Amino acid sequence: MAYDRNNIFAKILRGDIPCKKVFESEHALAFHDINPQAPVHFMLIPKRHIASLAEATLEDAAVLGRMLALTGRLAREQGSPGGFRTIVNTGHIGRQDVMHLHIHVLGGPDPFGRMLPRN
Ligand code: AMP
Repeated sequence: MAYDRNNIFAKILRGDIPCKKVFESEHALAFHDINPQAPVHFMLIPKRHIASLAEATLEDAAVLGRMLALTGRLAREQGSPGGFRTIVNTGHIGRQDVMHLHIHVLGGPDPFGRMLPRN
């Protein structure tokens, strides 16, 4: 699938629209979800234009690995010390709306059953 440079996360990466930034490095950006589904809900995205996990290749392995390895630190910093849920919706079957690969991180201080949607 061709990468659409006008998707909302591409615009955030270009600085065309603002985001509430959580973290930024040479290769990745993290920002709060505009419509949070939990007390802590942010997104971690690679700066490289990868439409979805289905389009990722072994060339992306190092960056994606570093992103996963960051989730714990960022979740703790954002107020989710007791764990969190990571979700990577992929393609239309995976109900992916924004076609730039992203890792959702959902968590918060409350007991698990009360803070996350049941889907
Ligand atoms: P997905 O269904 O996995 O593609 O999730 C897309 C997510 O992007 C949803 O949770 C939206 O709330 C979130 N989202 C959409 N627009 C923005 C935005 N401008 N800033 C932050 N998050 C956004």
